[in-house]
Amino acid sequence: MYNPKSRCADEFINHEEILETLDYAWKNRHNRELIDQILEKARLRKGLSHREAAVLLDCDLEDKNQEIYKLAEQIKKDFYGNRIVLFAPLYLSNYCVNGCVYCPYHAKNKHIPRKKLTQEEIRREVIALQDMGHKRLALETGEDPVNNPIEYVLESIKTIYSIKHKNGAIRRVNVNIAATTVENYRKLKEAGIGTYILFQETYHKESYLKLHPTGPKHDYNYHTEAMDRAMEGGIDDVGCGVLFGLELYRYEFAGLLMHAEHLEAVFGVGPHTISVPRIKRADDIDPDVFDNGIDDDTFAKIVACIRIAVPYTGMIISTRESKQCRERVLHLGISQISGGSRTSVGGYVEPEPEEESSEQFEVSDQRSLDEVVNWLMGMGYVPSFCTACYREGRTGDRFMSLCKSGQIQNCCLPNALMTLKEYLMDYASPDTKEKGLALIQEQIGEIPRERTREIVRERLMEIEKGNRDFRF
Ligand code: SAM
Repeated sequence: MYNPKSRCADEFINHEEILETLDYAWKNRHNRELIDQILEKARLRKGLSHREAAVLLDCDLEDKNQEIYKLAEQIKKDFYGNRIVLFAPLYLSNYCVNGCVYCPYHAKNKHIPRKKLTQEEIRREVIALQDMGHKRLALETGEDPVNNPIEYVLESIKTIYSIKHKNGAIRRVNVNIAATTVENYRKLKEAGIGTYILFQETYHKESYLKLHPTGPKHDYNYHTEAMDRAMEGGIDDVGCGVLFGLELYRYEFAGLLMHAEHLEAVFGVGPHTISVPRIKRADDIDPDVFDNGIDDDTFAKIVACIRIAVPYTGMIISTRESKQCRERVLHLGISQISGGSRTSVGGYVEPEPEEESSEQFEVSDQRSLDEVVNWLMGMGYVPSFCTACYREGRTGDRFMSLCKSGQIQNCCLPNALMTLKEYLMDYASPDTKEKGLALIQEQIGEIPRERTREIVRERLMEIEKGNRDFRF
């Protein structure tokens, strides 16, 4: 039976409830009166239930769809302004004992080179990332208790935080590793991680079992209940996501929102972020084998409807998506993007020859971080390298209540401008620097409080003198 408060995956992601939701949404896809009511509720910016959001996703009235996009854009502006936070993935190891049929790291793939970075190699990767200007990383590993035990991940986090090269520093390490125990989540929390990210891949249990035929990841309930264990272990920022293309997108969309509702119901705080990856070509993986690929129009609609349904949850889009696709969805609700990414183990120091590639998937957006920063500014966004919230203890329900009340805005823009200035001083190309300095001047005026504006001006001068890491 469906119960968002249950701790059992089959009850909080309930198959029958999803089927009924999809049926309800489909039957009401041109019910103008109901759609108007849902949009009215959505305008309060307090979110929607999975059923209400599913109706908007299926809505086939052209004028109402335009309203949905407009509202998503407005909510994005209200909650996140024009800031976009930047990060990069760091692949530590591609050893893996699982059999995920969509992932080149699956254990039966005997021709992909298996690599695991030593602490010295991690040092070199991190220096390369710092030299690009990155301050925030997402750690990625395959699941392998022998090659990638939790001790290896913890030691790597320690190494990463310890490296200070020139003015560089990694200030927030998010972690994307396989579902684990409460005890291990506690250790990750103690190591100072930001968000614990785990993609559900698919919420459809039957498909999940087929797509993960072997290895510990086969256990659907253990995987689906991982966020509960992470929260019990003290990690209050968790990042959800599904891999679009594996199952019907409508099913995944409802499952994703039910997962958010469950976390909110049990822990009083929903996911910190939602990622929207789509399956990509990779070694041994042909994305066309999966029947449920979604086109760019559907992808944009999903992003807009997630934005409306969970306005206070950050949304992430990676370099799996092309520049064109990212351009299309950024304004509909994305708050974080990766830039200059390498998805191979050790790829930042040494690009690999194609025939020996250890990469997890083909990157569509291959531009450098500087090009991405420049492009964002050209579209009127403020690229941000801010990591202040969790370092100031603004995590979990503290972050959510600040975000829901709109208070978070008082620190975000100043922090974005100060971290952008650091980037411009230390890493930017001349053209990016020129554009960025002009943008900062213009954006200072947007900071609401006079006193904050003054402090920001002083700190921007300090940054010019070589001082770093100011934050509100
Ligand atoms: N091994 C961990 C796990 O099982 O969750 C870490 C995650 S893995 C390094 C990161 C994510 O990449 C996976 O959760 C999956 O959604 C995604 N992924 C795997 N194969 C992919 C492909 N061919 N195209 C796009 N994304 C893929």
